Amino acid sequence: MNGLSTENESNNMYPATGLQSEKSFKPDFKLNRSLPENLKFLEELSWNFYWSWRPSAVNLFRDLDPQLWDEVEQNPRQLLRKIGGLRLWQRANDADYVRALNNFESEFRDYISQPAAEIVGISMDRPVAYFCAEYGVHNSLPIYSGGLGILSGDHLKSASDMNAPLVAVGLFYRYGYFRQSIGHDGWQEERYQNSFDQNLALKPVLDDEGERVLVSITMRGREVFAQVWLAQVGRISLYLLDTNVQKNNDVDRFITGHLYGGDVDTRVVQEKILGIGGVKLLRKLGIKPSVFHLNEGHSAFLTLELAREFLAENPQADFNDAIANVRSQCVFTTHTPVSAGNDVFSPELIEACFDQSFIEDLRIEKNELFALGRVNPDDENEAFGMTPFALRMTRTANGVSKKHGEVSRELWNEMFPEASVDDVPITHITNGVHAPTWIAPAFQDLFSQHIGENWKDVANDWESWKSAVEAISDSEVWRSHKLLKSLLISFIRQRTFSTDTGTQDTIHEHDDTNRLFDPGVLTIGFARRVAAYKRWNLLMSDLERLLKMVDDENRPVQFVFAGKAHPQDRNGKVLLQNLMALDNNSQWQRRAVFIEDYDQEVARYLVQGVDVWMNVPRRPMEASGTSGQKAAMNGGLNLSILDGWWIEGDNGINGFSIGDLDDPDISQEEIDARDAEALYNVLETQVIPDFYELDENGLPSKWIGRMKNAIATLTPQFSSDRMLRDYFSSIYKQD
Ligand SMILES: *Cc1c(COP(=O)(O)O)cnc(C)c1O
Repeated sequence: MNGLSTENESNNMYPATGLQSEKSFKPDFKLNRSLPENLKFLEELSWNFYWSWRPSAVNLFRDLDPQLWDEVEQNPRQLLRKIGGLRLWQRANDADYVRALNNFESEFRDYISQPAAEIVGISMDRPVAYFCAEYGVHNSLPIYSGGLGILSGDHLKSASDMNAPLVAVGLFYRYGYFRQSIGHDGWQEERYQNSFDQNLALKPVLDDEGERVLVSITMRGREVFAQVWLAQVGRISLYLLDTNVQKNNDVDRFITGHLYGGDVDTRVVQEKILGIGGVKLLRKLGIKPSVFHLNEGHSAFLTLELAREFLAENPQADFNDAIANVRSQCVFTTHTPVSAGNDVFSPELIEACFDQSFIEDLRIEKNELFALGRVNPDDENEAFGMTPFALRMTRTANGVSKKHGEVSRELWNEMFPEASVDDVPITHITNGVHAPTWIAPAFQDLFSQHIGENWKDVANDWESWKSAVEAISDSEVWRSHKLLKSLLISFIRQRTFSTDTGTQDTIHEHDDTNRLFDPGVLTIGFARRVAAYKRWNLLMSDLERLLKMVDDENRPVQFVFAGKAHPQDRNGKVLLQNLMALDNNSQWQRRAVFIEDYDQEVARYLVQGVDVWMNVPRRPMEASGTSGQKAAMNGGLNLSILDGWWIEGDNGINGFSIGDLDDPDISQEEIDARDAEALYNVLETQVIPDFYELDENGLPSKWIGRMKNAIATLTPQFSSDRMLRDYFSSIYKQD
């Protein structure tokens, strides 16, 4: 099937479409109600995701109606629309509440009124344009699937906090990514929700006449239009393209329907909308970026639009001149450690996507276009890879951890035949996470008390931060952690409670949750995509040995799992089903749970509440990983294979390492067996004994020492603030 006939929506995992009413093309997401005068600021605040990383602002929404807040899944606009009048007027009459709201209003106005800073010579008149296919800003904007999206969301939040000159471009997926539930039989089921039914914090982007800005992109032999939404992420504008426009035919309307729906025909046109449409949009808005950041290869087609523009302005120039010009403006971040992990398109797909006149505008033949996406340009059997293409069209490329930089240099060495592996021009910037988003309010509060309200700035100076954290008393750190652990356990009990459990309790649903989990028991979290390289099986490889730990009378262990399998990944679903079905004459049913629908909200409870965060990927497949960084900032100890970021993070105290760094020349089965042995061994001889060892005051002081060391050493090094500074000083900066 080629791109000209993409009736891909017949895939029955998608909801039926039907023709949409006029209204569904033009939702304005208005509240259609007015708030009491002294609460009006809440509506303004709900338009800016800044609230989501300020605990006091989260509380302002939650305290309006805590039960409704959970029902609307922490969507403030939905809350403001649905909340009953009595609740609203009670708050409007609550002096403490109104005072807190007014205080936050001052903070907010102060924050957003500051003009963008100039950083390494880059300022808002020539900003950085950040392109990514997904953004995980907050659950109430469901346009992310996992790690890449969370990373780009954190990138924007740190950019906002440092007042960086940056604008962001992405796609608005009307049905987002799937929501997961697990049936009684343990089989994963997928659901898609129409986000247009929600009150999203998205504003339509309008032109001077008040009409919607539309960009048009030619593909599959016709013009496709995309409208634009604006999400405000603190001081950062995030523009989202959306082809659900009445002018488009039914198929084209669904180009931006789903995130990672799984077929390449849709994927390639989505990427054209993102890349080509994104550049056209910036031009329409009068934004003239000095740097285009391709965060992963999905947006790499933008380089062709830049080339087309250059050639249109320079009639004498040829395509090589254009490449030189484009390269000087573009930087690329790669995120996977395998070539097959990146998008690869057949020549037919590329051809359907880029018609002859576009290729003529580039002053090349279509074979030359195909060659741009090949590792070996002369190999006509090679398909078009977005990573080789991006590497060719950008001035710098980087992986997302030191190890991933090495792996990428090796992986793409063939493209640079004259270079030795070490000289392949791919560097690295290690990923980080946004501390205010991921550190629990209980710990932020502790830091404010002991380090100061500006604790986040203190973290920029690693030494000062370390001594300040080490100075906090053990008992206070432990108390905060225990609070969060109890919160996690009540969350687990609520999420797994089921009044309709079918025949028996499974680890994703229980009818009696009171006996589930114990706050005194060592709690290990394992939440990740159900992909083969994450090795969900490793922990179960010796069931007897595992259950011996779980059942131990004095020093038991409990496990919380979460993660989605890709809708088309049968093996992954079988694996999950086996995990659900694991039943046994042991305490397993009571000490293991699976939380459905892993997302940003679930992740927060987990990384903030567990004692240990486990990660057992097959090396070197974890390009970076970020969830362990979130856990560490909350005093969680990583128990991880030495891969990705953990190679840089581990110091022997701030967590536990499994296996070593050698790459022995043995089979995959043997490596798995060795790693499983090492995992059990570390659990039995280090993790469990350390956790249960109490000092004369009844505190696990050795463990708390490790927790403090994790917070002290890992928070500054793996914050997205550090990551942003690195991007500015070594990637965005012009020579
Ligand atoms: C942080 C996060 C991820 C990325 O975690 P990994 O360490 O790459 O597994 C994925 N999904 C969600 C919801 C997250 O919050």
